[in-house]
Amino acid sequence: MATVFNNTSLVRDDSFEGSLSTKDIQIAVQEVKVQDMPNSALMHRSLREQPYNVVSGHGSYFKLQDGREILDGCGGAAVTLIGHGNAEVKAAIIEQLDKISYVFTSSLITSSAEELAKCILEIPPGGFQHGLEKAYFCGSGSEATDAAMKFCTQYFFEKGEPQRKYFVSRRQAYHGSTVGSMSVSSYLARKVPYEDIVLPNTSFVSPAYAYQYQLPTETEDEYVRRLIEELDAKFQELGPQNIISFIAEPVGGATTGCVPAPKGYFLAVRKLCDKYGILLHLDEIMCGMGRTGTYFAFEHEGITPDIVTIGKGLGGGYAPIGGILVSKKCIDIIRQGTGAINHTHTYQNHPVMCAAALAVQKIVKRDELVIRVKEMGILLHQLLVETLQNCKYVGDIRGRGFFWGVEFVADKQSKASLPPSLGFGMRVVKRAFELGLAVYPGAGTVDGVRGDNVLIAPPYTISDTDLRKIVRLLREAYDSEETKLD
Ligand code: PLP
Repeated sequence: MATVFNNTSLVRDDSFEGSLSTKDIQIAVQEVKVQDMPNSALMHRSLREQPYNVVSGHGSYFKLQDGREILDGCGGAAVTLIGHGNAEVKAAIIEQLDKISYVFTSSLITSSAEELAKCILEIPPGGFQHGLEKAYFCGSGSEATDAAMKFCTQYFFEKGEPQRKYFVSRRQAYHGSTVGSMSVSSYLARKVPYEDIVLPNTSFVSPAYAYQYQLPTETEDEYVRRLIEELDAKFQELGPQNIISFIAEPVGGATTGCVPAPKGYFLAVRKLCDKYGILLHLDEIMCGMGRTGTYFAFEHEGITPDIVTIGKGLGGGYAPIGGILVSKKCIDIIRQGTGAINHTHTYQNHPVMCAAALAVQKIVKRDELVIRVKEMGILLHQLLVETLQNCKYVGDIRGRGFFWGVEFVADKQSKASLPPSLGFGMRVVKRAFELGLAVYPGAGTVDGVRGDNVLIAPPYTISDTDLRKIVRLLREAYDSEETKLD
């Protein structure tokens, strides 16, 4: 049985807000054989497909139980920064365990958490003045999104503007899987069947996604102006005085596939938010921590956010950790008000996870890996273009640093998507894995919207040879799937 979208016209629907609900979306069910049923006790996402068991990892590779070595071309989901099996991180974790494994950090702190906060917030000489003053660490990106939403709500409560209750986000955006973070996400397939339990006080505007949505008759400036007018109209509709924050990824990640915003977009967003006192919350969970060639992705945009969410690369895969970074402007209001943050988790600022993340971030800084990402990112882009640009179904290659998306389309001229039922990006991902390469599937056609892509996000420490191997294997995987379509 292969069931997919019952309404393939959604693929080219430009204005699906209001016309496309999560109910329109059915999750593709893969054909399965009874003997494929796994005997795993773990509740893996698929109850039908047997997950691969990974037994070890070293550098840019991990090894499966069947003995195969897989080149990690996406660092999990843009998580791995310094590769697998790093001895320094292991030593730092053990050292922390030798000191203390846990304290409840509502009233107690540990040096590992304090030092991690300092390490992330520190501005090197001549560095970007980000205006962020404090960090809070939790267990995942989704928790960070929720914490940020609550922090921003508290900010206005203490500021004497308790009427503010709306969050504005963008379509084709993913900010997490908890109820709060899912509510500001527009990864529709992941909202089935929860549409009746998500927060009602969320609203969505268009993504900043020029390849698919900038009109052929429009200049980049005109496209930005149109997006900002739409955002302003949304603010007016809700009443700007009622809005808490606007949430956006500086470089769109899993849903659109590494899409940087058009030039000037975030500057204009910042200006508009300032005009109405709306907080700007940037989600750097996937694109942050050096992934795009600057420590924070927003540095490219020349803006300072009010609040930033981080995750994934923060722990580099060595610890489950996310966090929020908050600007002085926001902290000051609460400092002068109740003086207490009304948000807590048992495992917040956990000493061992912070020690692991600190070791990862120290290596990133000491070995100047962000500079390496910036420089080698140019090579990766060049290789992707040389190797894939001319392929029949490759529509666009975009990204920054070590964060690249390859988008597949049925027709390069019209940019029409391939039928979602085909799941072309996912097929390429699966074939690549058979060939020994892990890349990450984008969510475009899963949602019945544009952006069927694969995402490439290698570890910052990858060798030149392995970088070339990623692109070669990706092309091989693409070719074998293209042949099946012809
Ligand atoms: N925000 C973005 C941009 C993400 O890519 C993700 C995860 O993919 C999240 C939030 C949620 O993070 P986590 O899966 O750690 O909860």
